[in-house]
Amino acid sequence: MSAWAALSFDNHFARLDPAFYTRLEPTPLSEPRLAIASASALALLDLPANTVDDPALVTVCAGQQRWAGSDPLAMLYAGHQFGGYNPQLGDGRGLLLGQVRNRRGESWDLHLKGAGLTPYSRMGDGRAVLRSSIREFLASEYLAALNIPTTRALAVVSSNTRVQREHLERGATLMRLAPSHLRFGHFEIFYYRQQFDLLRQLADYALQQHFADCLTDPQPYAALYRSVVERTAGLIAHWQAYGFCHGVMNTDNMALCGQTFDFGPYAFLDDYEPGYICNASDDHGRYAFNRQVDIAQWNLAALAQALTPLVAVEQLREIHALFAPLQQAHFQHLMRQRLGLTCERDGDDTLVVDWLALLTRSRADFHLSHRRLSDTPCEQLQQVADDFADLVGARTWLSTYHARLQHETRSDAERQQAMRAVNPLYVLRNHLAQEAITAAEHDDFAPLRRLHEVLSQPFTAQTNCADLAAPPAEALKRMHISCSS
Ligand code: AMP
Ligand code: MG
Repeated sequence: MSAWAALSFDNHFARLDPAFYTRLEPTPLSEPRLAIASASALALLDLPANTVDDPALVTVCAGQQRWAGSDPLAMLYAGHQFGGYNPQLGDGRGLLLGQVRNRRGESWDLHLKGAGLTPYSRMGDGRAVLRSSIREFLASEYLAALNIPTTRALAVVSSNTRVQREHLERGATLMRLAPSHLRFGHFEIFYYRQQFDLLRQLADYALQQHFADCLTDPQPYAALYRSVVERTAGLIAHWQAYGFCHGVMNTDNMALCGQTFDFGPYAFLDDYEPGYICNASDDHGRYAFNRQVDIAQWNLAALAQALTPLVAVEQLREIHALFAPLQQAHFQHLMRQRLGLTCERDGDDTLVVDWLALLTRSRADFHLSHRRLSDTPCEQLQQVADDFADLVGARTWLSTYHARLQHETRSDAERQQAMRAVNPLYVLRNHLAQEAITAAEHDDFAPLRRLHEVLSQPFTAQTNCADLAAPPAEALKRMHISCSS
C-alpha cells in the first residue's frame, strides 16, 4: 500500500453538532490529470516527493475516490462582504475531508476546493476553474517560502469538466492544507442568529483544537480573541512588508488562526504603489493595499461583536486596541530586517517611512529595490540612486541609510548575506502566473512547474532563471484580475 493510501484521517469537526455542517461526497471531475503538486506540502503529511507519481493522488483530488477514513463535509459560516453582512455563506464548492496528524504532532485540515455543489452553493456551480486553482496554489506555496503565514496547497488537478465564467474554462480542484478552516464568519453566523449555545460550542472547539494555551487563562474566551488579534497583527505586518495585496478581505476570508486564506484576485506589488487595488471589482478601493491594516482592524471588530455573548464588551475593546500598535511594531521589525538593521535605533521608523516614500515617488519596483540594497556594498550605495526617478531624493536617503549602517556591529558582507535571505530575488508576479496558466490550459504544465520550483527558493539565485527575476514590462503591470474564480 502506498504511503498516500495509508494516511490516517480524523475529522473532529464532524463530531460537533450537525448544525455546523452538512456531510456530503465530492462530485468527480471528468478526465482528471495532475497539473502540479508541492513536495514541501506533501512533506507536511509525511508523504515522500514521489507521491506525485501515485495515480491515487489524482483520483482522490478529482473526487473520484474517497480517501479511506475521511469524512467529507461542507462547513456553514456567514460573513461581512465588502462591509455588508451576508447572513449565510458556507462551503459552496469545497469540502473539509478531515485532519491528518503528522509525525511532528501537527494536525492539518485537508480541504478539497472545487468539489461540486453543496447546500451552500447559492447561485454558484460548486466548481473552481484551473486559472484560480493555479493562482491559489502558487500564492500559498510562495508565501510559505517567504515565511509568511498561509494555508498550503498540496496539488491542483485539471480536467475536461467545462465551467462557465466570463468564458468557458476548465474545471479543477485544489487540495488545500491548513491548521484550521475556521473563519471569522463561523462565529458571526451564530451570533446574528442568536444561537449563543452553538457560538459557545464553536469557541470551545476552537480553544481545544487550536488555542490550547488559552485554556489555562482565567478568561479563555478573552484569551482566544487576544490570540486572534495578535496573529492577525503579525499576518498583516507581513503582507504590508512584502507587498502582498489580498484583494477580498471579507470576514469569511479571514482565518481564525491567522493564515493568509482564500486567494482570489490577489497581487504582489510590482512598483511600490500604496493605493494599488488588485481586485477589478473593488470599485471603491475598500481592499486597496494601503487599506489592509484598517480593514483587518474592522474585521477584528466584527469578530469582537460576534463574541460579545462570551466576553465583556469593555474587555473586547481593550484587546481590539492592541492590534494597531502590535501590527505597527511587527511591520517595523520586518522592515528593519529587510533593510539589514539588527538593532533598533531612534530614527529607524523615519528611515522606513522615507524609504517607502522614495519608492512611491520613483515608482520603483518594491522587491528589486530591496534586493539591490542587499547586493550593494555599503561604500557603493550612492550608485543605487541611479535606479530612482527621484535622483536627489534617493541620494539623500541613501546617505542617511549609509550613516545608519555605521551603527551596525556585523560586517558589511554579513549584512548583505542576511538581507539576501529576507529579500526575494524571485517574485510571484501576476504576469508570470498568467503565462503558466495559459500553458496549463493547453495541458502544458512545464512552465507552471518551473515557476513553482524557482519560487520555492525565492531568495536564492538559480541558473537559467533570469527571465523570472526581471521586472515586468510596463504593459504587463497592474493586470486586470477578475474576481470570478
Ligand atoms: P469566495 O469569493 O471564493 O471567497 O467565496 C465566497 C462564497 O461564495 C463562499 O461561500 C463560497 O463557497 C461561495 N462560492 C464561490 N464560488 C462558488 C461557486 N462557483 N459555486 C458555489 N459557491 C461558490
Ligand atoms: Mg472565501
